[in-house]
Amino acid sequence: METKTFNLLGNFSYSRLEKYLSCPYAYKLSYVDGNFVSANSLAIHVGTLLHKVNEYICLSIINNKKIDYDKILDFIDNAGVTDVSLDMFSEKKDSGIKGVNILKREFFEEWFSTNTKSSKSMKQKIDEFKERIHDLENEFKNSDWEPYKVEDPFEFKFNGVTFKGFIDRIDKHKVTGALRVIDYKTKDAKFNEKELTTPLQFVVYAMAIMNKYGQTPESFIYDLPLIGEKQEGGTKGFIARGEKKMSSILESIEKEDYKPTPSPLCYWCNFCCNNSNAVAPYNKMCKYYSLWTPTNKTFEVNCKYGSLFILKP
Ligand code: SF4
Repeated sequence: METKTFNLLGNFSYSRLEKYLSCPYAYKLSYVDGNFVSANSLAIHVGTLLHKVNEYICLSIINNKKIDYDKILDFIDNAGVTDVSLDMFSEKKDSGIKGVNILKREFFEEWFSTNTKSSKSMKQKIDEFKERIHDLENEFKNSDWEPYKVEDPFEFKFNGVTFKGFIDRIDKHKVTGALRVIDYKTKDAKFNEKELTTPLQFVVYAMAIMNKYGQTPESFIYDLPLIGEKQEGGTKGFIARGEKKMSSILESIEKEDYKPTPSPLCYWCNFCCNNSNAVAPYNKMCKYYSLWTPTNKTFEVNCKYGSLFILKP
């Protein structure tokens, strides 16, 4: 079968494809028009903090160094306040990472709010993460797997399009040499079955690892450190299904099909004035947003695509 080559410039990532899938118009505003909004959310800061902790633990194991747990706990609390650092084995520097003492001040209400999917506040979840801090090392002590690569960079071409990124962690089987992929997600709840069927992120990582290490990973695992859960992603045949899905997304992007798909997610979109956290001028860039709010669960939209009728400017 002939492989189509796409004429698309720039570097792609699974998150760029996901953005198109969630709303082609949001994709256009970001990647075509160049409106990149730096997100400042508690979840993003906590994600960065926990990625760094797990990176340090795995790099210590890879380098045969004793894990300094006092330093880790100090870092979780005081990153960005004191000069405590977990950078000793890492190429990526931890400057800019915010610890608990900064985050609980900056996101005071959210820090203590239990209005979450897990009904636990961020404070509770971080306290529980600290209690489980030895789990990662203990898992490897009783396992045939060992950490192999951390924050592993990759670059490959798929149908003429460049994909670039980093993989949180790759483990290697001590006997067979098989590889498995681990991705940390600081989610508050487990993935549902549909989300685990063909995760595009793991399709991209499968191609990256085949390209770099010449083998397809044996498994793909989401590690959810905030809730102490792990879930395997990708059902039988997911890589082939994912490749087709990627081709079809790239084809739509090449055709410049940017029709908006308003949904309740508009309430959290950076281009939507219904999102109280969206900042100017970005929050006025989309007029096609859904009028859905948590207290008004409507299917109405502010302006139909192709229509001149607008409720709000
Ligand atoms: S507000 Fe909704 S329709 Fe508009 S760009 Fe964002 S997700 Fe798409």
